[in-house]
Amino acid sequence: NRQLTLAARPVGAPTANDFALQETTPPSPKQGEVLLRTVFLSLDPYMRGRMSDAKSYAEPVAIGEPMVGGTVSRVHTSLNPDFQVGDWVLSYSGWQDYALSNGEGLIKLDPAQVPPSYALGVLGMPGFTAYMGLLDIGKPQAGETIVVAAATGAVGSMVAQIGKLKGCRVVAIAGGAEKCAYALDTLGVDACIDHKADDFAEQLAQACPKGIDVYYENVGGKVLDAVLPLLNTGARIPVCGLISQYNATALPDGPDRLGQLMGSILVKRMTVKGFIIFDDYAHRYDEFAKDMSQWLRDGKIHYREQIVEGLDKAPQAFIGLLQGENFGKLVVRVGAD
Ligand code: NDP
Repeated sequence: NRQLTLAARPVGAPTANDFALQETTPPSPKQGEVLLRTVFLSLDPYMRGRMSDAKSYAEPVAIGEPMVGGTVSRVHTSLNPDFQVGDWVLSYSGWQDYALSNGEGLIKLDPAQVPPSYALGVLGMPGFTAYMGLLDIGKPQAGETIVVAAATGAVGSMVAQIGKLKGCRVVAIAGGAEKCAYALDTLGVDACIDHKADDFAEQLAQACPKGIDVYYENVGGKVLDAVLPLLNTGARIPVCGLISQYNATALPDGPDRLGQLMGSILVKRMTVKGFIIFDDYAHRYDEFAKDMSQWLRDGKIHYREQIVEGLDKAPQAFIGLLQGENFGKLVVRVGAD
């Protein structure tokens, strides 16, 4: 049983030395338990928060313990009558080959319907996040302009496509020409701006001739700076994530623009609302699952995964996620299915 544990709390960007690969014998299930074999491990930006012991909405991973994470797993051994050997389940087994479960919280998956790994992305946590943040907080109306960054990623790609389904103008922001081409050609956005371009702010302004009504906040930093002057009166900002800040160790150089931000919120009467998907919206999961499954079946939603082979590759892939190296929902294939 290989486990990737947290070896040290990173300062700034995580490095390979913050993780340790350990070998243990797989645990044995007791009566009522199942032993799960991890097939796919989801890598997500929130894991950077779990590596830190700064106060947050969830407990940090303890030093020496396996990193946490959502997995698609198969039942290897079952002493629980509700589960058969070979069953596919959505689990929270973390960065390891095997994990025990008493069955609580496991969700059975049917591989005949959709590829099981989709439960970690389009049909799981990131898709749900896009759906609720955009529709419940962003409240997009047909004809309005939505801006979303990290637009080819797990969450952003769904925000962009749901925005189009709702009849909006969608302006995507992504890192590099290849991602922008994908956003335009496959996700069907109206414009895509590369945030690495020198004239990024000017290009964004040009792409939003009627201003911005919904800014789905995934990244913060210089993207937010460029968005702020373009926001319309009554704009909505679902604050989903601030990935450009997750490795920050200090406040950015001045001048301090907090007053400017608060002033904009005041005079433009904007709604700025943060949310933590399962804490706030677990009761609405079925609504999401029904709509998203239908859109997928109808071919209205495109989904791109980047599958990295091997648990030992997880640290490098995760480090890259925080620097924009992934292209699509990042998943590690841990074991053969
Ligand atoms: P992605 O698949 O979008 O991967 C992360 C992407 O972020 C990168 O590919 C990169 O895209 C972009 N990025 C990374 N670093 C920077 C940077 N310094 N500046 C600008 N962009 C950067 O990840 P997810 O879709 O899983 O997550 C997107 C956001 O949603 C994150 O902020 C995450 O924390 C948040 N989230 C929040 C949840 C909640 O409950 N509130 C739940 C799930 C996710 P590019 O190369 O295009 O810039």
